[in-house]
Amino acid sequence: MRRYAVVGKPVRHSHSPWLHRHFARRTQREITYAALCPATTFAACCDAFFAGGGSGLNITLPYKGEALAYAQHASAFAQKCGAANVLKREANGELRAYNTDGSGLLRDLQHRCGGVAGKTVLLLGAGGSARAAAHALAAAQPAHLWLHNRTYTRAQELAAACGGTAHGTPPAGAQIVINATSAGHADGITLPAEIFAAAELAYDLSYGAAAADFMQQAQRGGARHTADGSGMLAWQAAFSFAIWEGVLPGAQEVARLLRQPAAPR
Ligand code: NDP
Repeated sequence: MRRYAVVGKPVRHSHSPWLHRHFARRTQREITYAALCPATTFAACCDAFFAGGGSGLNITLPYKGEALAYAQHASAFAQKCGAANVLKREANGELRAYNTDGSGLLRDLQHRCGGVAGKTVLLLGAGGSARAAAHALAAAQPAHLWLHNRTYTRAQELAAACGGTAHGTPPAGAQIVINATSAGHADGITLPAEIFAAAELAYDLSYGAAAADFMQQAQRGGARHTADGSGMLAWQAAFSFAIWEGVLPGAQEVARLLRQPAAPR
């Protein structure tokens, strides 16, 4: 039986064990999936897991950067993002790092609004997940990719890296507005209502209560549709599963379950 796990700190809140056990049942794969919180270092935790025969890991905060450095090889996309959320042990024992956050986001945007090609997209934030989002969005050929971040220099750096345009204040006129800040986990972020006036979709990478304030501001500002990041979460897990097990499970059903008030874990 192949062994997988998610590594993070904290990790108790993670939906990944439930998601992957669900995918395994659906695809009739025999796997185990655990949640690991390093007692000492990230590397020591991974060393022990792979020495014990583990096949692959998901990586969550705060270890996505360390995961990239830990692997011997990395996908081009993970290298661009400077972060990995998937490690896979290859047949020769070497580890390869991947980042499925970007493909998870694009897949959910495809489902929600037909994708970003030819559209103007405003991305808020320039942290780890914004980096993955920006590189994935840029590759999906939007008409314009506008970036705004509280710390402007980080937006400039990200714009230079992915080919977008940095804005000191969030501009109006985007058809898709994406919140990739972590503000919803703290005091929130107050945005100018006009940035939502032309939006067909306002999307928050956060999910559950952390996305509520952004989605309410978007609705008040005139966004036609709003969504939280539960679909992205489900699809990044499905793409991880595909890397390990060679089969891509459907993730729409689990995304719907994750949106319920008492989401399964
Ligand atoms: P980081 O800590 O790497 O980045 C945080 C970002 O939020 C920075 O750009 C920071 O700006 C900005 N920020 C934080 N507080 C505020 C504030 N009060 N006002 C304005 N901007 C603020 O976080 P991540 O990128 O890892 O995560 C961001 C969000 O994405 C989280 O809510 C996380 O849950 C979610 N996420 C969802 C995933 C999914 O699958 N749906 C996957 C990964 C993440 P500054 O640079 O100025 O500090």
